[in-house]
Amino acid sequence: MRLVRSNIASLEPYSTARDEYKGNLGILLDANENPFGGGLNRYPSTTLRDSLVAKLAEIKGVLPGQLFLGNGSDECIDLCYRVFCRPGKDNAVMISPSYGMYKVCADINDVEARQVKLGKDFSLPVEDLLAASDNNSRLLFICSPNNPTANSFPESQIRTLLDEFPGIVVLDEAYADFSARGSLKKLLEEYPRLIILQTLSKAWGMAGLRLGMALADSAVVRLFNRVRYPYNIGTDTLQLALELLPKSYVESKVSIIVKERERVRAALAEIPTIREVLPSDANFFLIRTDCPRCLYNFLLSRGIIVRDRSNTPLCGPALRLTIGNPGENDKLIKAITEYDSIQSTIH
Ligand code: PMP
Repeated sequence: MRLVRSNIASLEPYSTARDEYKGNLGILLDANENPFGGGLNRYPSTTLRDSLVAKLAEIKGVLPGQLFLGNGSDECIDLCYRVFCRPGKDNAVMISPSYGMYKVCADINDVEARQVKLGKDFSLPVEDLLAASDNNSRLLFICSPNNPTANSFPESQIRTLLDEFPGIVVLDEAYADFSARGSLKKLLEEYPRLIILQTLSKAWGMAGLRLGMALADSAVVRLFNRVRYPYNIGTDTLQLALELLPKSYVESKVSIIVKERERVRAALAEIPTIREVLPSDANFFLIRTDCPRCLYNFLLSRGIIVRDRSNTPLCGPALRLTIGNPGENDKLIKAITEYDSIQSTIH
C-alpha cells in the first residue's frame, strides 16, 4: 500500500512468546512470568483475543481479518497516524468542530492537522476538505454522527470524499448506533482506503472496559496488529467483553436513550431561556442560551455536570448535554426550569 510509512511497511514486528506457539498450553517457561497465581500471572492469550475478534466480527458482519481490536477507539486513531503519517512531513485533514483526539494525536505524532470548518448549519464542507488536501495528506477524519454537533453526514458526500481524497478516509462511527441511519460499513466492500471506527464505549455501555475497533481492509488490520503494543488488551478485559457482549447492547437500552433524547429535547424547547435545542442523531445534543457559563455553573450547583461548548468553533453559546437515565433527565429538566424562572425574575 503506497500510503504506508516505509519504516512500518518493512517493520519486523515484536513477536510474543505465545504468537510462536498455538498448541495446548503445557508448562509455560517461555515468557518470564511468575508461575504462581490464578491466571492473571500470565500474559493475555492470543486464543482469547482471537475469540473476541471473531465474536465482534460476527456481530458487525465483517470477516475477523477486517477487524482490529484496540484499547478504545482512541488507540485506533493514534495507530492511523503511526502507520500512515511521516512525522514532520505529512498532514491530516479533519472537520472542525469534531472529536478532539484527531488533533491531539496529530500533534503528538508531529503531523500537521488541517482543520476545516463545517458549514454554518454543520454541513460537511466537501469542497473545502478536498481543497485543503495535497499530496502529503494521508488521513481525512470524518465523524458521523459528529461530536459535538450531533448530526450525521449524507452517504453521497462521504462517497465523494472516498472517491476524491488521495489518502485514507477515517469514518468515526462511535455514535452510529444512536442514529436513524446506522453504520456505513457496507462501504468497506467498495473502498479499501476506508477505515471505520466503532467502540464498545457508547451504545454497548462498556466505556470502562476500553475496547474500540477499526473495521477496515485486511491489509490495514494486519498493519495495525504489527504496530500495536504486543498485549494492548488485558486478559480480564477480553474475558469480561466475551461474557457481557451477548446481552450488553440490549441492556444498555439504546432505544430508551433515543426516546429520552427526544423527550428531553422537547421539554427544553419549551423553556424560554433555552434559545435553541439542536437536533441529534447521537446520545447527546447542543442547546444554546444567552449565558452558557451561568447555566453551566447553576447546573453544577445542582450536582449536574454538562460540557460547555461555547468556545468551540461554530457552536455559539452552547452547552452539550448527554442523555442520562430517565430520573437524571427529569432532574436536568427540573434544574433548567428553575434556572429559567430565576432568570425571568432577574430580567
Ligand atoms: N470517537 C468519538 C467521536 C468520541 O466522542 C469518543 C469518546 N468520547 C471516542 C471516539 C473515543 O472512544 P473510546 O472510548 O472508544 O476510546
